[in-house]
Amino acid sequence: MSTHTEDTTTGSTVAATASEQYTVPTGDDAFVCEYCGAPFATEEYHSLHLGLQHGASLTDDQRDAFEAAATDEAEELKLFRLKALGLLVLLYFGLLMTYAVVT
Ligand SMILES: [Zn+2]
Repeated sequence: MSTHTEDTTTGSTVAATASEQYTVPTGDDAFVCEYCGAPFATEEYHSLHLGLQHGASLTDDQRDAFEAAATDEAEELKLFRLKALGLLVLLYFGLLMTYAVVT
C-alpha cells in the first residue's frame, strides 16, 4: 500500500497550505474540526483533515467523507501517472523505431 501513504502526504500538504493562505472566519459557514477546532475553507479539506489527524475517532459518515475526498486526489494522481507512462511508452517505441531504421 505504498500509493496510499503518498496520497496521505499529499492531502496533509494541501490542508496545511489552505489553512495558512486563507483566514477562515470561525462562523457558521466555515468547516471547523470538532476535535481540535481547526478551520477549513472547504468541506473536502475538512474531511481530509479528519481522516488524517483523527482517523481513530471518526464516525462512519466522517470516514466515508474522508475516503471520498482521498479518492478524488488519488484519481488525479493516477491520471497524471497514466499520462507520464503513456509518454514513456511512446518515447520507448520511438527510439526502438529509430534504432531499427538506423541499423
Ligand atoms: Zn482536527
